[in-house]
Amino acid sequence: MLDRIPIASPVLRGNEMRYVQECIETTWISSQGKFIQAFEQMFADFCGVKHAIACNNGTTALHLALVGLGVGPGDEVLVPDLTYIASANCVRYCGAEPVFVDCDPLTFNMDPAAIEARITPRTKGVMPVHLFGQPCDMDPIREIAERRGLFVVEDAAEAHGARYKGGRVGGLGDCASFSFFGNKIITTGEGGAVTTNDDALAARLRLLRGQGMDPERRYWFNVVGYNYRMTNIAAALGVAQMERVDEALAFRKELATWYDEDLAGEPLIIRPHVEPWAEHSYWMYSIMLDPAVTVSRDEVMARMNGAGIETRPVFHPMHVLPPYAQSAAPFPNAASCAARGISLPTHEMLSRDDVTRVCAALADAIRPT
Ligand SMILES: *Cc1c(COP(=O)(O)O)cnc(C)c1O
Repeated sequence: MLDRIPIASPVLRGNEMRYVQECIETTWISSQGKFIQAFEQMFADFCGVKHAIACNNGTTALHLALVGLGVGPGDEVLVPDLTYIASANCVRYCGAEPVFVDCDPLTFNMDPAAIEARITPRTKGVMPVHLFGQPCDMDPIREIAERRGLFVVEDAAEAHGARYKGGRVGGLGDCASFSFFGNKIITTGEGGAVTTNDDALAARLRLLRGQGMDPERRYWFNVVGYNYRMTNIAAALGVAQMERVDEALAFRKELATWYDEDLAGEPLIIRPHVEPWAEHSYWMYSIMLDPAVTVSRDEVMARMNGAGIETRPVFHPMHVLPPYAQSAAPFPNAASCAARGISLPTHEMLSRDDVTRVCAALADAIRPT
């Protein structure tokens, strides 16, 4: 039983130490070395795709994907209003504009029915984000994209291992990006990757990741590229993490059943809604307070903090943040989910008793005093 329960915690109890030590002993600490290729291969196999291009974080991976897909000044990309800000920022890095789409009120994810109204002649693509580990409803999104000539780039930063109708995220669009930040399901400290089945796109992404250097001619550059490479040390962590990814995913699934059991008797706590076609990977077990709860969401979180339990609010919708502020924005569902959502501690250090303690504290915290 943990004294103070954190929201997230990495688990490094496999071969992490051994592989990192090997990097140091062999002096292969920079962005060449055997762990990078090994990690890329393991991660591609895990996602069921042909290529994984490892990057130094999830934000650069997403930016690289957009550059690789040809996004540039004047373009628009459809991004969910409810997401982490990196999704929107990467579009701006390209000189393009994110155009926000409202979410489904139950799953937090981009609502396919809200997409078409946001398409303009400038729209180049759509970026479904599998929020908190829940896959988006990809069939209608892909149908719209195909009919309107748009690319689909998955932001799968939070959803390693999640499945849509049996298929792993990462292979459900033209390409996908992942994050391996310290609080994500699989971590390399800082890290990211783009996955794709498209050989030509993969080659372009590799070129752009390494400053655009011509693979046939050293120190010759035909394009402006980036240094978005992952280090061998980070990849060493990644290989060790991938060796036990199935165990990590199985644990999170069981953890969710514990939360489901303990919260089943709380009618004012809305548990994660999982569609029949979805396999949620539970990066975060995120609940919503029923509108009948009279204690404010922030007060509920403050009370839980007082009980030694760290929680986090669901993301602020993009349309309220200064860089993307839009008044009279048509995003009622995102606004409502953001106001009522709380992510509960979700990680592998939690015991059954910890979950009982979190749920008891939550039940206490929503009671009016
Ligand atoms: C974590 C995250 C990212 C960015 O990943 P970093 O590795 O932190 O740069 C992008 N999108 C979403 C939805 C994320 O949760």
